[in-house]
Amino acid sequence: MPLSEYNVESIRSRIASGEESLRDTVNRSLDAAERLNEKLNAFLEIDRKGALARAEELSANQQAGESGLPLAGVPLAVKDNICVRGLQASCGSRILGPYHPPYSATVVERLQAAGAVVVGKTNLDEFAMGSSNENSAFGVVRNPWDTERVPGGSSGGSAAAVAAGIVPVALGSETGGSVRQPAALCGIVGLKPTYGRLSRYGLVAFASSLDHISIFGRNVRDVAEVLQVAAGRDPLDATSADVDVPDYKAALTTDIKGVRIGVPRALLSEGLDADVSERIEAAIEAYRELGAEVIDIELPHAKYCIAVYYVIATAEASSNLARFDGVRYGFRAEEAKNLREMYRRTRDEGFGAEVKRRIMLGTFVLSSGYYDAYYRKAQQVRTLLKIDFEHAFGVCDAILTPTTPTPAFLIGEKVDDPLSMYLNDIYTCTANLVGVPGISVPCGLSKDGLPVGLQLMSRHWDEAGLLNLAHAYESKHPLLERPRVSALSDSTS
Ligand code: GLN
Repeated sequence: MPLSEYNVESIRSRIASGEESLRDTVNRSLDAAERLNEKLNAFLEIDRKGALARAEELSANQQAGESGLPLAGVPLAVKDNICVRGLQASCGSRILGPYHPPYSATVVERLQAAGAVVVGKTNLDEFAMGSSNENSAFGVVRNPWDTERVPGGSSGGSAAAVAAGIVPVALGSETGGSVRQPAALCGIVGLKPTYGRLSRYGLVAFASSLDHISIFGRNVRDVAEVLQVAAGRDPLDATSADVDVPDYKAALTTDIKGVRIGVPRALLSEGLDADVSERIEAAIEAYRELGAEVIDIELPHAKYCIAVYYVIATAEASSNLARFDGVRYGFRAEEAKNLREMYRRTRDEGFGAEVKRRIMLGTFVLSSGYYDAYYRKAQQVRTLLKIDFEHAFGVCDAILTPTTPTPAFLIGEKVDDPLSMYLNDIYTCTANLVGVPGISVPCGLSKDGLPVGLQLMSRHWDEAGLLNLAHAYESKHPLLERPRVSALSDSTS
C-alpha cells in the first residue's frame, strides 16, 4: 500500500470491503514495528500478543454483526508516559522501567472502545523533558527522513512511528510543544487540543498546568477522527472540561473564505532558518489564495515565553516528580543502609541528567526568597501572554507561525547546549502556557529534503476551525515525498 493511502479512512474501507482482514491490518503494523525498530528505536514495547488477541476479538464481533466501531482495527501507538493496562509505562526513565500501571488512561480507553488496537508503547525523552528524544534512558529515536537526525521530542517515538507508516495515528503528550515539534520534524500532522479538551487521567504528570495528551496523524482528517472519539469531560480528571464536542469531520469543509489569519511578524525574524522562513512565506501566500485574509498582529510578551515556560514547567516538575522515591513505583536502588539513603540513591540512579537539572531548577525557583522573583513573576507574565492572545483573537481567527525555528538537526548537535535546545520550543510553548489549541501541518521540504512544519493556533475550544484551516492547506499542498525509512511503498514508485 502506498504511504499516502495509509490512513484511517482507507483502513476502514479496506476492512469493510474484505480487501484486508482486520487481523492482517494489525499484523502488518506489528511486523513493521518490529522490523523497523532496529533502525528507528521508536518502540520501547511492542505488544504482539495483546494486539492480535484484540484483533481476533474485534473480528469475531464484526462477524457477529456488531460493526460500526469508527476505529475498528486501526493500529495505534501510545507514548510510554500514557498508561495502557497490561503494558509498561517507563516514561523513558530507569526509575519507572519496571512499572506496569494497573489501569489505562481515559483517552486510551475511549480509543480502544472505538476499535483502535494498541500495538505498542513508544520511546520519548525522559518524563517528556526534551526537544530531540536524546534524553531517553533507552536510546535516541531516529528520524525516518534521515536516521542521522533527531525526530524531535519529546514524543519522538510516536512521531517516527507515524511518519514511517508503522501506524496511521499515535498518541503523544505536550507540555511545551512535544507533539507539534516532532510532527514538524517528521513531516506529519500534530494537534495539541485546548487544555481540558482531552482527559489527562492516566498521563504521567510532568507539569500539570501545561500537560496535554495530543494526537499525531498522517493527515488532518485522521487527527479529527481520533479527537472525536477521545474528547470530552472525564469525571476522573477535574481539569477536563464539560464543553460540547462538535462534529470535527463535518467541520472539514476546506472553505476558509474570509477567515482572518494573524501573523506575528516580530517573531519571524531572529534565529529563523532561511529554508523555514521561505516555506512559511509560501504558506502565507497559499492561504491568501485560498481566500483567507492575512493580517499582521503583535504578541508583545511572546518573546518571554521560553523563560516563563522553563520556570513554570520546572517548578511543577520538581513537585510532581517527588513521588518517585523507590517506595511506590518501579525501580529501587539496592543495598541502601537506611531510608534516606534509599531515597537518595534511587533518585540518583533512577533519573537522568536532564530530569535532575529540571528538578534542581524547579526547586530553586520555588524556594523561599526566590519564589517571588522567579515563580510568581513567571505566572504574572503568563497572564500577560494570555491577554496578548485575547487581544490577537479580537482581530483574527487564527495565528500562523513556523512550528520550529529549524528543520530536524543532527543527533548530538545540541546535546551539550541546553539553552539552544530549549529554544526549539519558541513557537510552540505559548499555546501550552495560554491553553489554546495548536496544530502543526507539513508545509514542504527544506533544500536538504527535510520536512518543515507550519503552526496554526486558534481560540480556546475552536479545534473545529483550526482543523479546517489546516485541512484547507493540506488538501492543496500534500507532502509528496516520503521518508527514507518507511514500512510502505511510495505511491510514485
Ligand atoms: N521541549 C520542551 C521541554 O523540554 C517541551 C516538552 C514537552 O512538551 N513535553 O520541556
